[in-house]
Amino acid sequence: MMKGSQNVQEVRRREMVETLKQYGIVNPRVLDAFREVQRHLFFDVDAADLAYNDGAYPIGFGQTISQPYTVAFMTTLLFERVPSGKVLEIGTGSGYQAAILDALGYSVYTIERIFELYKRAEKLFSRHGLNIACRCGDGTLGWVDEAPFDGIVVTAGAPEEPESLKHQLAEHGCMVIPVGDADSQQMTVITRCGDTFRREVFQQFTFVPLVGREGWNDNIF
Ligand code: SAM
Repeated sequence: MMKGSQNVQEVRRREMVETLKQYGIVNPRVLDAFREVQRHLFFDVDAADLAYNDGAYPIGFGQTISQPYTVAFMTTLLFERVPSGKVLEIGTGSGYQAAILDALGYSVYTIERIFELYKRAEKLFSRHGLNIACRCGDGTLGWVDEAPFDGIVVTAGAPEEPESLKHQLAEHGCMVIPVGDADSQQMTVITRCGDTFRREVFQQFTFVPLVGREGWNDNIF
């Protein structure tokens, strides 16, 4: 019974990877990570059927697990610029993006502002033997004690690039961050070159807001 359902999940995961390929995600290492990480583990048991659809779904507290395509797009932007090293994720949510980064061999740190989500992700990482450092707090301020980071991935929509995060990038480190208004944000990659920051912009996405001292004000949502 268990074996059968595992096989079904594996087949569905492979189908999800085929969908990602059709959408233009071609990096073999990134695709391998999506084949490896079991997205259904990051869902409540009763919602696990949805796990291999290319959709964003509620995870409680008004937050979502991002669409696989979005996770793959951001991961590719990071991986093609910075293929190894220490990466900070802002917005742990379900923990799925952090697990994908872990599968790629990064040393992963992740911050979540909502205590219940942080706790749930921490338990999940420990249950599945994932060596991911997580903490609860305002990720717009970064993780000073662990900086600098080779990569930073922000998985919530920012009104502008947080200065604290930019300054926690290592030399030639990259930050992948959606920047824009509350309805739509442009995927942006910031690369540190000494005291200057190079900016590349990509397509539009829609994320839940990055709420914090260097993000949106909590009162306006
Ligand atoms: N990366 C997540 C995943 O794989 O499930 C999806 C994240 S969800 C789209 C965005 C998350 O960012 C939410 O869980 C939200 O609570 C969190 N968030 C928003 N502002 C934050 C902040 N200042 N610091 C840390 N987490 C924040």
